[in-house]
Amino acid sequence: MSQTAIKALRPLEEWITEFGPILEVFLDPFCVVDIGGNVVDFNIAFTELVGESHRHIRKTRLLTQLVKFHGTTNPFIEVVSTGRALRIDAVSASSKAHSDAKLDIGAVPILSKGGLIIGALITLRNVTADHNLLQKYGDTKKESITDGLTGLFNKIHMEEEINKALKLSLREKKPVSIVMADIDFFKKVNDAHGHQAGDYVLQLVATTLKNLMRETDRAGRFGGEEFIILLNNCPEKGAAIFCERFRHAVESTLFIFEGKRIPVTLSQGTSSILRDWEDSLDVSTLLKELVHQADSALYKAKINGRNRVVQFTSVEPTKSTT
Ligand code: GH3
Ligand code: MG
Ligand code: MG
Repeated sequence: MSQTAIKALRPLEEWITEFGPILEVFLDPFCVVDIGGNVVDFNIAFTELVGESHRHIRKTRLLTQLVKFHGTTNPFIEVVSTGRALRIDAVSASSKAHSDAKLDIGAVPILSKGGLIIGALITLRNVTADHNLLQKYGDTKKESITDGLTGLFNKIHMEEEINKALKLSLREKKPVSIVMADIDFFKKVNDAHGHQAGDYVLQLVATTLKNLMRETDRAGRFGGEEFIILLNNCPEKGAAIFCERFRHAVESTLFIFEGKRIPVTLSQGTSSILRDWEDSLDVSTLLKELVHQADSALYKAKINGRNRVVQFTSVEPTKSTT
């Protein structure tokens, strides 16, 4: 061991003697490393995380031989070289006891009385179980709000999204538009090319839609070949522009299934929040009314020849009966 290392170790031992009793309160695994990255002090939780005996840890010493950090820099090097405290969550790591762990890592530099960096205190909270649970819960949650075929939201979740958006829109006086889009003569696609071809068309239309949407927009599959799109912070004019882009994108996409070209077009109806609705209607009535209006506009688009966009304001307003 070099002279400098011996000098550096002494202040670190002093530090451990002084602060060791305070560290006893830590329930999470922790260790103290010197500037060479050697583990010089640790608690029982650390031995459990590492999966080695107290003696083995003292003999092996190098933190990186006891715990392997994947896809991130060794936390000790980062702290010792920058002199700054560090916190990284859900770091993938492995040890003799854990082949695939997730650790929340905290590290602070330890300074000598003269202000030199002499080591680091590193805490390694094992969050593997929480992480796995979160991922499982996240997947289940995703399944419950998503349409399996297209990956868009399902009807129930879209209604929740629209509800939230309407509340925000009324409070912050921001425009919101709703679009109902329906594939034209979709029954013919199934009849002529088979159900699988129909599913393929649905998926490609959904992908086209996802590619056109803004991050703040939401889209769902509302029924068989019907989609609903929520355009946040978007007035009537913006909705018309969006729908025209969507209509054109679908019309000009090459749908080819088992070598055969399938011509696909869309009809769309839009409705937008109007100022004079603000005081008069509650959110659930407003939702029904908007969907009903977009539906009426879509109906008009169908009877006017399909492959077109109709805005509710450009058709006769009809009051919702629901
Ligand atoms: P329009 O232009 O008036 O909308 O005519 P359309 O043929 O698209 O409308 P219609 O409501 O008569 O037919 C809808 C078809 O959508 C009938 C149904 O078999 C089909 N469909 C509904 N859900 C699915 C699905 O998940 N996959 C497939 N392949 N077809 C579906
Ligand atoms: Mg249709
Ligand atoms: Mg339909």
